[in-house]
Amino acid sequence: MANDKLRVFGKYFPVFLNYGFSLLVQRIQALIHRYTWKNLPSSQNVVVIGGSFAGITLARRLAESLPSGYKVVLIEKNSHFNYTFNFPRYSVVPEREQRAFIPYTGIMANTPKGIFEQVQDVAVGVREGDVVELASGRKIPFAYLAIATGVTQSPPAKLLAREKADACGELRALQTRIQDASRIAIVGAGAVGVQMAGDIKSFYPEKSVLLIHSRQQLMSSFGVRLHEYVLGKLQTMGIDIMLGERPELPRTAAWEGGELTFKGVKDEQFDLIIPCTGQTPNSSIIEQFCPTAVSSKTKRILVNPTLQLKSDVKTNAQIHNIFSLGDVAETGGPKMARAGMIQADVVQENILALINGRKLKTYKPMSIEGSLKLSLGMDEHVMYVKHEDGDEFLYGGKSSNVDLEVEKAWKMFGGDMETNKAS
Ligand SMILES: Cc1cc2nc3c(=O)[nH]c(=O)nc-3n(C[C@H](O)[C@H](O)[C@H](O)COP(=O)(O)OP(=O)(O)OC[C@H]3O[C@@H](n4cnc5c(N)ncnc54)[C@H](O)[C@@H]3O)c2cc1C
Repeated sequence: MANDKLRVFGKYFPVFLNYGFSLLVQRIQALIHRYTWKNLPSSQNVVVIGGSFAGITLARRLAESLPSGYKVVLIEKNSHFNYTFNFPRYSVVPEREQRAFIPYTGIMANTPKGIFEQVQDVAVGVREGDVVELASGRKIPFAYLAIATGVTQSPPAKLLAREKADACGELRALQTRIQDASRIAIVGAGAVGVQMAGDIKSFYPEKSVLLIHSRQQLMSSFGVRLHEYVLGKLQTMGIDIMLGERPELPRTAAWEGGELTFKGVKDEQFDLIIPCTGQTPNSSIIEQFCPTAVSSKTKRILVNPTLQLKSDVKTNAQIHNIFSLGDVAETGGPKMARAGMIQADVVQENILALINGRKLKTYKPMSIEGSLKLSLGMDEHVMYVKHEDGDEFLYGGKSSNVDLEVEKAWKMFGGDMETNKAS
């Protein structure tokens, strides 16, 4: 495994080098842009819907690079950036949940004044005449639009509340349910289910935890090596695992106790059942405007390799000024934060190319975008990536940071985690 650390470094060194160099160039360009962009009264809007990993990266890159005559409008329903990576951990460990909500106010600190507007609202649809309609009734015209609305998942993967205080309340409610339960079933062994199981068992070793998965392989969208490693670790921790079972979930509100019916073994009673299954792409805002741009199979937004909206699957015709990226889009890339952030660079470059009459860039997914760092209980994690040629890289490590390094995200957002304020 130590060997894998070296192998992964060797394999991806040119990619890291290239990425580091383009970051340096971006910083220099952003500095020059800060002093050259002019706030013109007739500025046209470049609208980004969704302020998570993909959307916020795009909004920031645009605010660092749009020419005078254009500005960025970010529409996001949540009051704070939801750092979802830590939701499983903060559903278990009390009194830290507020750290998963990062103020948006610091992220544009180094961009020209007037280039960025943030609107906390829900986008309900795109309308003829290049307008986005919001739940409040406000209509925002756009010259270019990027949709990065991600997916909806049941809590705790994503939360229902839009305000930080209520969202913290949701996580605290689950903490209490976990504290009060002795027998806990987690249904669904993707990243969220595996992290929840590991965290509950390591912070509360006396509780009985059963992790149930419908397939024979844990984390089924990754490779078999990850399955074997995670299975071994969870079993060593004393977590029971049931594979190939899809019990019907109770119809009551989430996080109740109840009986689960299995085909392989007898029915069992639990004090708490936590569903960690399924996700629905948030593509409805485009459904009325361009129904052919939504996949009937996956409900994801269809895009061409330039990430422009595909309006006709047969001819690959596209709507030139609307883009989609991140988990909501059928990009061919992995459904991971890192992939959405790489796609943000492509969309930013293509919007600039359209403004300046240049050739557009295409998005070619790279295996490194699908790399995963997964916590396995309180003090262990595993790094995993599967290369295009099928080669799997995996290495485990020790973790001592209860907050799973969320402070790095705060820093990226120009915020201070300890004071809970953005600069
Ligand atoms: C526990 C966990 C661990 C993970 N670990 C990793 C990892 O190690 N590495 C990795 O790369 N990825 C990881 N992921 C996956 C990663 O979180 C997702 O791929 C990423 O969040 C997708 O980002 P996105 O911006 O496309 O969409 P989302 O994160 O789904 O965000 C969409 C945004 O759009 C907003 N929105 C939606 N609809 C509207 C609307 N109509 N109007 C206004 N706003 C709207 C939402 O409020 C949200 O802020 C992990 C996920 C989880 C849950």
